[in-house]
Amino acid sequence: MKNVTEILTGKSNGAHVPLIAGPCSAESYEQLRTTVLELREISNLIAVRAGVWKPRTRPGSFEGIGEHALQWIQKIKEETGLKFAVEVANSWQTEAALRAGIDILWIGARTTVNPFYVQEIAEVLRGIDVPVMVKNPIHADLGLWIGGVERLRKVGIRRIVAVHRGFFTSGTSVFRNDPKWEIPVEFRTHMPDVPIVCDPSHISGKRDYIFEISQAALDLEMDGLMIESHYRPDQALSDAEQQVTPAELKEIMTKLVRREELP
Ligand code: PEP
Ligand code: MN
Repeated sequence: MKNVTEILTGKSNGAHVPLIAGPCSAESYEQLRTTVLELREISNLIAVRAGVWKPRTRPGSFEGIGEHALQWIQKIKEETGLKFAVEVANSWQTEAALRAGIDILWIGARTTVNPFYVQEIAEVLRGIDVPVMVKNPIHADLGLWIGGVERLRKVGIRRIVAVHRGFFTSGTSVFRNDPKWEIPVEFRTHMPDVPIVCDPSHISGKRDYIFEISQAALDLEMDGLMIESHYRPDQALSDAEQQVTPAELKEIMTKLVRREELP
């Protein structure tokens, strides 16, 4: 299995199921800090995720705290020593995240669809050794996903992880986003050295499906999980229905089985 822990954190003692977890959005210093301190109890946690600029489909909903939240992340990083991942969607966000010392960047589904934006981000990253996660584009266009990875490689980014977050469905699936498992499987045949982390939160849309999607991802030998967690999910300002508490997430982790390692 490709070592997601090593790629994203530089540590070689890879977790059994590498987990990136944290709130959909950083909402306040207290919300982020409390959630992170509780997430620390999960032994396979390798990094914390937190959205700072939120790409909402329609205007009028919470669009993230913005740059100010990077200061909260810096403080909590200092306190806990944990690595943090933040979504960037254009050049100035990428510059701000790098200035703030964010450890891992990710390109979201609404950005991977646009080669201009991916290229703009890639230009800022030219010659910089930072790990980047590339989510699949909103629609099931494998070429755009591969193209996003290639654009980063061309500017010298070596530490790249793909994220499978499902694909837009016009109401034809019980899930918020259709997993279309065949797409990440095909991605792997084209880019066998790029690990794939599954994001069951954005596939599910509902917290009740997180376990089932996580187990399906492990059964397909995916290399890790990225799951949204909030200390008070029902009060979350974005993606409330799909977030789980850190305690619930810990429980989900104990139930997951890596079948390829069974005798
Ligand atoms: C997120 O991770 O909170 C997010 C906005 O995800 P996606 O780009 O997959 O919709
Ligand atoms: Mn979200």
